[in-house]
Amino acid sequence: MNTIIIDGKHTSERVRRNLRSVIEQLKQAGHTPGLAVVLVGEDPASQVYVNSKVKACEELGIYSQKWVMPTETSQEELVQLIDRLNHDDRIHGILVQSPPPPHIDEAAVVLCIDPRKDVDGFHPVNVAKLVMEDSSGFVPCTPLGCMELLKEYGIETKGKHAVIIGRSMIVGKPMAHLLMSKQANATVTVAHSRTTNLADLCRTADILVAAVGRPGLVTAQYVKPGAVVLDVGINRVEDPTRPRGYRIVGDVNYDEVAPLCSAITPVPGGVGPMTIAMLMANTVKACRASCGVD
Ligand code: NDP
Repeated sequence: MNTIIIDGKHTSERVRRNLRSVIEQLKQAGHTPGLAVVLVGEDPASQVYVNSKVKACEELGIYSQKWVMPTETSQEELVQLIDRLNHDDRIHGILVQSPPPPHIDEAAVVLCIDPRKDVDGFHPVNVAKLVMEDSSGFVPCTPLGCMELLKEYGIETKGKHAVIIGRSMIVGKPMAHLLMSKQANATVTVAHSRTTNLADLCRTADILVAAVGRPGLVTAQYVKPGAVVLDVGINRVEDPTRPRGYRIVGDVNYDEVAPLCSAITPVPGGVGPMTIAMLMANTVKACRASCGVD
């Protein structure tokens, strides 16, 4: 099969190019989009994510604030900072990097973010808007990025059977809502760790989304020939041949699955690059809404 390799890097660059001109127009009208990124603790992976979000802002001309707080920061101190950011007119988007240290109640923190600044789309108001198909809300960046990839590559979703493996609030559930929406019109099945006959179920999918966190779980026997496969997984596996001692792989056994598919996202370079691009898009959307452009 002539498999299309869905290029997330290229698509994310296209998204950023489009955003650049919107940001320019906003600035000319006196509005600069602003994002605050808050990190509690010293998790090295989180530090990398936070820095790449700030860098993306700089590249696009989005104003950014990076708040790095010590691990022992209390819930109250974090909430106080969020309250300040909620009232800071320069800030249109607030993101608290996940996962925070265990003593922080993440769900309670999300509730403190002004839903109009919740560019991660985790606040219940935005979850409800997604379910209700109210486009004024914010949708979590990774599933939003997956939808953008499908659009970019002209992949039909209407009437297709989409199977999503994973039911997290950050990927699986929002992805299901996006695909079943009246815009995408797919028929959606959501699988999880208690699903029986997972491979058989997945083999009925026209579009298979893997958001599990298990390297190489999806093998050839999970995939119907001609299916579209989106691999959201980002997993570190040991690899002594690499200078870092590990490499990043997805939830899909790419070498085995790719030849079967009509289209597939590689890892890295597929869904991954879309996440930050969509965060930038959500920040610009928040700015436009706050200054009444939308
Ligand atoms: P979670 O751990 O929150 O959710 C994983 C889901 O997979 C759960 O619903 C779980 O089921 C299900 N699951 C686990 N094991 C199995 C199994 N053997 N068979 C079927 N289902 C299973 O993970 P996330 O949604 O946060 O992330 C998923 C993956 O996506 C990770 O690799 C993560 O790193 C990556 N990711 C990538 C992003 C990107 O930018 N590309 C952004 C966010 C995540 P149950 O609910 O029953 O426990």
